[in-house]
Amino acid sequence: MTALPAGSTIGILGGGQLGQMIAMAAAQLGYRCHIYAPENVCVAAEVSASFTSADWDDEDALARFAYDCDVVTYEFENVPVAPLAALPDGILFPGTRALEVAQDRLNEKDFVIELGGTPAPFATVDDAAGIAAAVEQIGTPGILKTRRDGYDGKGQWKITGDIPADITVPESGLIYEGFVDFECEFSVILVRGHDGEVRFWDSPHNTHEGGILAHTMLPAPAIVGEQVAEARALAHKAAEALGYVGVMTMEFFATANGPIFNEMAPRVHNSGHWTIEGAVTSQFENHVRAICGLPLGDTTSVSDRVVMDNLIGAVALDIEQHLSDPRAHLHLYGKAEAREGRKMGHITRVG
Ligand code: AMP
Repeated sequence: MTALPAGSTIGILGGGQLGQMIAMAAAQLGYRCHIYAPENVCVAAEVSASFTSADWDDEDALARFAYDCDVVTYEFENVPVAPLAALPDGILFPGTRALEVAQDRLNEKDFVIELGGTPAPFATVDDAAGIAAAVEQIGTPGILKTRRDGYDGKGQWKITGDIPADITVPESGLIYEGFVDFECEFSVILVRGHDGEVRFWDSPHNTHEGGILAHTMLPAPAIVGEQVAEARALAHKAAEALGYVGVMTMEFFATANGPIFNEMAPRVHNSGHWTIEGAVTSQFENHVRAICGLPLGDTTSVSDRVVMDNLIGAVALDIEQHLSDPRAHLHLYGKAEAREGRKMGHITRVG
């Protein structure tokens, strides 16, 4: 692909903080961004040239949006796939196959198993009667998860003994996963260019609270160093199989039996926010470079010690406290309401 010249327009499907940070990286490279999202107000549009507020299934609006764009990408993996047929061929990077795989936990696990990866033991649940059979098959403890539309620990129930009576099984079903006895969690973040070149960032140690990423840290514990090559090889194979262009993330549990695949995100990822200040080229800049056909930037970390803390809910509002450390890089996404569990910003410290 020939590189898109400055002044070209990048369309972004989704209006959250990931789109906001992609748009800011795009602006630095001379591109303008056009956001497409169903909300009336969104933080990505605050830093972009244009905004289409329309439903995901509004094919006319999608076609008009694409007419204004030289390339289109997404920052949200639950964009419905069928209406994307309204986009011209060859404009969407990564493509729709990556969405189809990542939107459904069963597809994702089958895809990874075919590539030689190992997820947690699991069983599918199609209706309420199937829950007991799945729990019986896999054992406890375990986690019931919605196959589709789950994120940040939403749509999940930990099962330790009796099955709660209030679980409703959506039409798309559930998956019951055995609880993985892990030493730590880590992610593999890669970028793949149009020419197939792949680069990886250092793999950070991720900790979660209530199913939501809380902290990302470098260096990761020694076990991550021992297992990262195998995890990278799987992520690389996945990117090849999908003909992937852009930044892709895979999350893993480091266990005594090697890396266990948890889930993949066909997009920039919260566990890569540290790369803005902590790597020579950030995940956001390299995503823009990849989809626009520019040479990829160096992914080397600028320090072996980097910490990223998510600011979730009202804690984000105490700006003076956050900036009392003069080395703190504070990012606030500008969301209006600091609801509980809502990602409002993050802080990165390098060195
Ligand atoms: P997920 O939305 O599937 O990434 O789950 C959110 C978080 O819940 C993960 O990052 C883990 O901390 C925890 N978790 C999810 N699935 C499992 C599992 N099978 N075993 C242990 N912990 C899990």
